[in-house]
Amino acid sequence: MYNVPADFINEEKVWKTLENNQRADFSKVRGILAKASEMKGLNMDDVAALMGISDPEMLHLLFETANQVKETIYGKRLVLFAPLYISNLCANECLYCAFRATNKEIVRNALTQEQIAREVKILINQGHKRILMVAGESYPNQGFQYVLDSIKTIYSVKTEHGEVRRVNVNIAPLSTDEFKLLKSAGIGTYQIFQETYHRETYSKVHLGGKKKDYNWRVWSLHRAMEAKIDDVGIGVLFGLFDYRFEILAMMQHIAELEGKFGVGPHTISVPRLEPATGSDIASHPPFAVSDIDFRKIVAILRLAVPYTGIIMSTRETAKMRRETFALGVSQISAGSRTNPGGYSEETEDDPSGQFCLGDHRPLDEVIRDVASMGYIPSFCTACYRLGRTGQDFMDLAKPGDIKLHCAPNALSSFMEYLRNYASAETKEVGLKLIRQSIEEMDGIAKQRAEKLVKRVEEGHDDIYC
Ligand code: SAM
Ligand code: SF4
Repeated sequence: MYNVPADFINEEKVWKTLENNQRADFSKVRGILAKASEMKGLNMDDVAALMGISDPEMLHLLFETANQVKETIYGKRLVLFAPLYISNLCANECLYCAFRATNKEIVRNALTQEQIAREVKILINQGHKRILMVAGESYPNQGFQYVLDSIKTIYSVKTEHGEVRRVNVNIAPLSTDEFKLLKSAGIGTYQIFQETYHRETYSKVHLGGKKKDYNWRVWSLHRAMEAKIDDVGIGVLFGLFDYRFEILAMMQHIAELEGKFGVGPHTISVPRLEPATGSDIASHPPFAVSDIDFRKIVAILRLAVPYTGIIMSTRETAKMRRETFALGVSQISAGSRTNPGGYSEETEDDPSGQFCLGDHRPLDEVIRDVASMGYIPSFCTACYRLGRTGQDFMDLAKPGDIKLHCAPNALSSFMEYLRNYASAETKEVGLKLIRQSIEEMDGIAKQRAEKLVKRVEEGHDDIYC
């Protein structure tokens, strides 16, 4: 089944939908935004119409509605994580990536388990609790077992105050049996980007290796979900093809997963092509997405799939990241390195990195910045550890109940960060924000928050509900 063309990505329907929804007038846009504010999502026609808008007044209304939906569902929380690149070995030929097999300009490296443990210790000592493990598609001699061993190593590292509490992974598509092993290794989210849903473009930019096979990749989340991995993440690499096509095709992918498995993706990532060593296309994206269109993409996704997390990586600059918090972003990486061993090394911009970063600030600085803007940095991993994943998570999230858990948990995990890892300056900003946030809460959420934060202040770690 999984090597046949995926009929749920219907290119003709995408083009037709775009054509039928060109130049929506103000009253139509208002209607769509009114519907969006009910937080029940949007259909392909609605999304196509919103993608066509450029009038400043309409854009303003779009951004305002996205902000309202984001605040209603997520409050002021922003979940923090760090990527951990374990290997840049790769057998594929993705033209945009520095790790592609024939690129001679980078030094190849697959970390040993000891080296992985060293990297993890550094991340824990910075205050991280959530790791996104990343690798190219070629593993050292142990093969796929290398991935499983690495996850085990990450979970095994303990320091005085910390440990990694959730390992998400972004690795090449697996067979259903391999996905089952990945699930038993205790992963949180399995993340994979289709890069482009446009088949012709896909063939042009994936010239060799297993990744050439569009169908193997596009069916991979079906296999993952069949293997009972409840939380899956999707994404498009913006810049390879027309973003309007990509968003509508991604909507088809989401609808397919919702239809088959009762739940859609847990997260959507929005990577834009960044310059990469030895890649021409990465510096000259054929369909570069402008900053204004990028903000539009985030806002439209927030309205189209209101309960799905949106992830913003350090590919983007601090300024762009700040702007998109208000439009719908709910998770960000911080202090990232994209070269294996990058956290143990001194150099920031190692050319062996997968691509160039836009935000180089260390975690403490990002936290201080985020907190000064009134956003609560969260290191919470409660849902996954209490089994609130997939459908259970969505059932809880949809009526807004998640706020009763997420807001108090965000505050207790932030307090844990401040107590154990923050600089004096960040601590001052953070403590003020925690006090203010609790004051603004009421009912059960407030009682919970007060109780959890107090326990952390008394010296307990890992307190959540
Ligand atoms: N190798 C696996 C794969 O390709 O699915 C997983 C890891 S890969 C390192 C993670 C993602 O990085 C890719 O899916 C791609 O979207 C993104 N990426 C690759 N080159 C990039 C670039 N030049 N700029 C931004 N993102 C890039
Ligand atoms: Fe390899 Fe992934 Fe880079 Fe492609 S994107 S070259 S598969 S690491």
